[in-house]
Amino acid sequence: MAANDRSAIELLFRVSREFATALDLKTVLTRVLFAAIENVGGERGSVIVLDDNGRAVDSAIVYGNQLRESTTLQLRDTIDRGLAGWVVRSRQGALVPDTSKDERWLRREDDAVDKSGAKSAMCVPLLSREKLVGVLTLVHPVPKAYDDSHLELMQAIADQAGISILNARLYAESQRQARVMTALAESAASINTSLRTEQAFERILNQTRQALQVDTAAIGLVDASGELVFQAASGEGADAIRGKRIRNQGGVAGKVIAEGRGLVVQNTSEETLLDAAEKAIGRVRAVCCAPIHAQGKVIGVLEAFNPTNKVFDVDALLVLTGLGSLAGTTIQNAQFFEQLDDAHRRYRDLFEDSIDPIFITDLEGHILEANLQAMQSAGYTQDDLRKMTIDQVHEVDFTKTGNIYEKVAEKTLSYESGLVSKDGEKLPVQVYARRVKFDDAESIQWILRDIRERKELDSLREDLTAMIYHDLRSPLANILSSVELMSDMFSDEERESGLSIAKIANLSIDRIQRLVNSLLDVNRLEQNQPIGSRKPASFDDILGDALEAVQPRATDRQQLIKANVAVRGLTVNVDADMIRRVLINLLENAVKYTPAKSQIDLSAIVDGDWLNVAVQDNGPGIPESEWERIFDKYTRLKAGGMTGGLGVGLAFCKLAVQAHGGRIWVENAPQRGSRFVFTLPLHKE
Ligand code: ADP
Repeated sequence: MAANDRSAIELLFRVSREFATALDLKTVLTRVLFAAIENVGGERGSVIVLDDNGRAVDSAIVYGNQLRESTTLQLRDTIDRGLAGWVVRSRQGALVPDTSKDERWLRREDDAVDKSGAKSAMCVPLLSREKLVGVLTLVHPVPKAYDDSHLELMQAIADQAGISILNARLYAESQRQARVMTALAESAASINTSLRTEQAFERILNQTRQALQVDTAAIGLVDASGELVFQAASGEGADAIRGKRIRNQGGVAGKVIAEGRGLVVQNTSEETLLDAAEKAIGRVRAVCCAPIHAQGKVIGVLEAFNPTNKVFDVDALLVLTGLGSLAGTTIQNAQFFEQLDDAHRRYRDLFEDSIDPIFITDLEGHILEANLQAMQSAGYTQDDLRKMTIDQVHEVDFTKTGNIYEKVAEKTLSYESGLVSKDGEKLPVQVYARRVKFDDAESIQWILRDIRERKELDSLREDLTAMIYHDLRSPLANILSSVELMSDMFSDEERESGLSIAKIANLSIDRIQRLVNSLLDVNRLEQNQPIGSRKPASFDDILGDALEAVQPRATDRQQLIKANVAVRGLTVNVDADMIRRVLINLLENAVKYTPAKSQIDLSAIVDGDWLNVAVQDNGPGIPESEWERIFDKYTRLKAGGMTGGLGVGLAFCKLAVQAHGGRIWVENAPQRGSRFVFTLPLHKE
């Protein structure tokens, strides 16, 4: 007995050392099986390795002295229903003297009684510190070949094996994880370098095929209508699946999108799950599919078909899921980049094709870029221009831009200037300057719009004005005196009707004279000539004359002009004729723009040394953006549909008021319409 014990201890010591020296799981399993068959006896044996959740993850089968190929999949049955399962559940060894008489023995087709007959079998748990790491089974071709002592020895061997198997399994797991990490890291490095969608697709697909060892890989993205469209594919049958749609969330891909997580189908013949699009690539044996996530949303799927090794290995889904999330950010980045690139290109095209000369400078005014039109107008090459500053190609209005362009902001500022070309010629331009981002740098965009035509038109108008003035003024004076003469020639019967006709003629002559005088004044005042006769004048008289002049038109339109002058008898220090015309101009505009039958308000209040006069109407009003421009010569607003008028009335008013040192402006009337206000110097005794 002592000798037996000793030899048993020696055996256990030997096998435990043998098991422990190997780290590869398959080697450890083979050694355990050989040691068990050799020392306990039997024809064949198997080991099933379980993970922490009790799932079969690896296995080995030995027949005589040969290792058999087997798949862990086949052994799952045994764990679920057979003898091994009983051992797993009861965590104790089982001795089956006659397999044909034991219910726990799972009969396979190849195990039928008529083939190999009744056998004996033993199965023991492989434990490592209370933890079940697998089961070991031995089979003997003859019934009743084993007894309890065999079972004891087998359990002793199994006890030595437990820790080695656990170590080897953990090692294999860490190896596998390392492989997955390496595959993902490599893929990340390769995939992330592409900023073009097409290229990104290609890289993702290549990495998928390499990492999973599959014949075909495809990328499907959900389109705006919610359908999945296969945008890219590579490998066998790739052409057939590219562009195909999966409708109504069908197929493996549809399921993955609906559930938001990956799926492996090892054998598609068992599944009726495939969609027509997925079938398009030809015979699909196995599919692995992972969602592509971007910003918390599933935007598509990454699908791998037909692994070279027939089935996907355990890590396939893990790797594909990793690739799927990598793909998400990459695809989205590429799409963003392309959108940005498109926008950039569009801006470039607009810039190049613009009929306006455009210069881009840095914030100090150094020219960085000029479009074709700019080069043509300035007569410089791009290289010349890049050595120049913006003030060399046009006269900068530094009061607007600020001395170091600090006033140029995102809101466009504008002024008139001249584009100076290389040969010294000056092209009249309207400059529009504003801050922009150009190639990611803060820059200034200068548009120098050619206003030659406008200028020519302006000078034509000036000529016309001069002509009107010279050629109308003297004939008009003649008409006026003729009408006066005629008034004295009426007989008594004709007198009444004759005088009223003469009055109408006089009013019209007055109007023409006012227009002619205003045109003359505009020309004179623009050249900074002083106003002719400035002397103390009664404001009441000026107001009275002005009201009398516009009253007939207001009466025609059934309008009421309400004059609200708090203090009477005020004296202003002005050219009375000029100021009378200013007032008439404002009142005439008010009459023109105020609807018939409504009211116009005139007020005058003393404000220190000044008299503030306001004319307020009920008309359409003037948009704030036009409040300054309206006082420029020839400005006539389109809105309101009013035609007629030269657009010199307000220009004259402004020049006339300013010549008296006063101010004129427009604002919104409290309810509706506009309110023109101007100031006049009060006379001091
Ligand atoms: P004109 O009346 O000869 O066209 P003005 O210089 O008097 O020229 O006026 C310039 C433009 O300003 C007008 O064409 C009109 O569009 C606008 N405007 C002037 N007064 C008013 C007003 N009271 N209400 C609305 N728009 C006005």
